[in-house]
Amino acid sequence: MFDSLIRFIRDQYCTNEFIPLHVPLFRGRERELVLDTIDSTFVSSVGTYVDRFEKDMAAFTASPRAVAVVNGTAALHIALKLAGVVPGDLVISQALTFVATCNAISYCSAEPVFIDVDRRTLGLSPVALETWLTENARIDADGLCRTKLDAKVIRACVPMHTFGHPADLDGLVDVCRRWHILLVEDAAESLGSYYKGQHTGTFGLIGTLSFNGNKVITTGGGGMVLADEVIGTRAKYLTTTAKRPHPYEYVHDEVGYNYRLPNLNAALGCAQLEQLEGFIAAKRMLAAHYIEFLPQVGLMPIVEPDDCRSNYWLNGVICEDATQREALIGATNVAGVMTRPIWRLMHTLPAYSQARRGSLVESEWLEARVVNLPSSVPALAPIA
Ligand SMILES: *Cc1c(COP(=O)(O)O)cnc(C)c1O
Repeated sequence: MFDSLIRFIRDQYCTNEFIPLHVPLFRGRERELVLDTIDSTFVSSVGTYVDRFEKDMAAFTASPRAVAVVNGTAALHIALKLAGVVPGDLVISQALTFVATCNAISYCSAEPVFIDVDRRTLGLSPVALETWLTENARIDADGLCRTKLDAKVIRACVPMHTFGHPADLDGLVDVCRRWHILLVEDAAESLGSYYKGQHTGTFGLIGTLSFNGNKVITTGGGGMVLADEVIGTRAKYLTTTAKRPHPYEYVHDEVGYNYRLPNLNAALGCAQLEQLEGFIAAKRMLAAHYIEFLPQVGLMPIVEPDDCRSNYWLNGVICEDATQREALIGATNVAGVMTRPIWRLMHTLPAYSQARRGSLVESEWLEARVVNLPSSVPALAPIA
């Protein structure tokens, strides 16, 4: 059974060599634009590619503003600061996520609260969120949502669009609005993914993207904050050392961050962004092949939720149980075809073992079964 899966994956990539989980593809103007920054000497914090990358990304996502930063984790950190998260606050997120989501909450000296995901979307469940809030929270006279137990402010909620599949955004927007909680989307994995025709990362107060080497497009390392004009302007200011514009004086009127994306990286991003539509078309084609093939060998593919168009960043399969999961991971990796289990649930990591949490039955069910399969854009795929 795994032999035919391995053969199928090798056919997709037309190779007998090692097949990684996800690697970037550079076959546009990457070399040209990066060399242009070197020739211009503007490789660092000033340059035209940062501006262009921000404008192009705002246009692509239909976000009023897009602010480029050094990585997706920094984007999340700034997003939470802009949402007003202060030390001692609670921030709701998923136990089933990459650790960066929780780390950004910790950087604000806030505490994560882990809520279950939906088995269908792999994203935060509005039903589980509502259940936890009804049991544990109230809205005070000052309009803030606080815990009944110890009156901690529940300031924000950070759902994550797992593997590029959009979470139930209508549901999450509604619960957050009724409970006076600010919505910040971790869209690190979902560039090019749409929920009911609208780009992920544009449903809440702020959204964040990542351009790490393993994402749909890469700048080497990089991230983006998506927001409206007012918050976007403040994001730019805070991530560029909180410097007030002045012809020559160094006026910094609060603690700022040096989180700006170097022009060198932005040049790579501009060249990658030109190919994004083609990458997504190729990734959706690969996903369609997996979805057709996997049931033939008794495996259940992970499919985009209804009303969504996923970028299929990472393809995944849901095994029968943990035993089958181990067998699949073992057989494929021994054969030089890289596969990986989904992340360990956040509350099982030492840093977050004390975190508050709701029921996590669905997260636990998925943790025991999900395996990611090679998902790079096949180098031989026809690119638009
Ligand atoms: C990649 C990723 C991030 C950000 O990662 P960086 O490496 O800091 O760009 C954040 N959250 C999730 C879910 C991710 O997959």
